[in-house]
Amino acid sequence: TIARLDAAWEVLTRLEQAGFQAYLVGGCVRDMLLGLSPEDYDVTTNALPEQVQDLFPHTVPTGIPHGTVSVLIGGERIEVTTFRKEEGYLDGRRPTRVEFVDDLRMDLSRRDFTFNAMAMDSRGKLQDPFHGRADLQSRLVRAVGKADERFREDALRMLRAVRFATMLNATIEEGTRLAIRRQSHLIVHISRERIRDEWNKILVMDLPIALKHLTETDLLQKLFPRLHDCASPKWMQAAEMANRLPPQQQIRQAALFWGLGINVTTATECLRELRQPTAFIRNVTAILKAIPNTDPFAWSSKLWRHYLYLCGKDAAHSGMLIYCLSRPELLKPLMCLFNEQVSKQPIWSARDLAVTGRDIASSLKITPGPKIGKIRQYLIDLVLENPSCNSRSVLLAAAASFYETQQTDH
Ligand code: ATP
Ligand code: MG
Repeated sequence: TIARLDAAWEVLTRLEQAGFQAYLVGGCVRDMLLGLSPEDYDVTTNALPEQVQDLFPHTVPTGIPHGTVSVLIGGERIEVTTFRKEEGYLDGRRPTRVEFVDDLRMDLSRRDFTFNAMAMDSRGKLQDPFHGRADLQSRLVRAVGKADERFREDALRMLRAVRFATMLNATIEEGTRLAIRRQSHLIVHISRERIRDEWNKILVMDLPIALKHLTETDLLQKLFPRLHDCASPKWMQAAEMANRLPPQQQIRQAALFWGLGINVTTATECLRELRQPTAFIRNVTAILKAIPNTDPFAWSSKLWRHYLYLCGKDAAHSGMLIYCLSRPELLKPLMCLFNEQVSKQPIWSARDLAVTGRDIASSLKITPGPKIGKIRQYLIDLVLENPSCNSRSVLLAAAASFYETQQTDH
């Protein structure tokens, strides 16, 4: 990120030398004041997109209609956006029209919260017309301008308020919080994808704190309308448990559903509604299915083999962690048992069988097709029942006799 800061500084000074105003702006200024190293640096300038493109040899027209050009410099990528004001919001959606202006203050005033509305020039001088630095110091999330209006312009800002409050361990300033409560119904106008992106960031933060803000702002019900039956205390309990897991989205999402007593079907519907990617949904449901509902210490080795085969190692591991959330004293012994069973697991997929589909086909002189699939499934079950069977000769013999019974059955 040092290289990236150098690149950003280079962009600022070159714009200045060409006679333009240029500032670092938004999240990176906030993070620098917090002593954090920003993920990325955004630059705002009065240069128009074409002028930015003319000034730098390597650029990408990332979002010309919004005034954004990415400058590639020193192997880094810096987003440069022309000062603008936004107009023409419809029902709390994104702006329909963008107007470029020649005024930093106006650009800062369109930003969501005071600590996101600061700019810094190449000499490190801070432009802070809305007193974002003071709010940052007192850990206050405060809307720029009239809060109700700002949330009516873009309702996603309400969820961003919760995310920043959680991230900064801050309070949502009272006026801003009351405005969110008044406007919370507007969240339904926001695209599910934008909501999902915010929610996924919140998932890896401190969940009880996030939940407190979501409840106080009335946003929780709007976020998961399908879960309206789940009362606040139940949510809080689920959040506290999920929070003990590593900050990984899918396991935490699964733990929340589990803590709320939501079944796999409803969970899947919730995630679809939130437009989570298919792989995300698949992982969460795999984890939910892998949470034991009987005592794993009482499982036979055979049951363990079938369980590990069906769930897969990763989902099974997550399922074990979640199982232990309500029984913390079991975590250590259960992990021992789990690792032991994993080390003994004979096969994790059909590919681990000592014979391939082709081996089976050529040894039985049949053409590849659904018949082979059926035989392979038989062999998988055989090996899970009895791991010592996983050798070429035993499996081919078993395949032959299974095939024969199939033939005579028909
Ligand atoms: P993060 O650490 O998540 O990147 P960020 O503050 O950089 O936080 P971004 O979404 O990257 O957030 O946006 C960059 C800046 O653009 C913000 O700091 C803010 O000034 C402005 N901004 C982003 N989204 C909005 C919005 N919905 N309404 C108003 N201003 C916004
Ligand atoms: Mg950012």
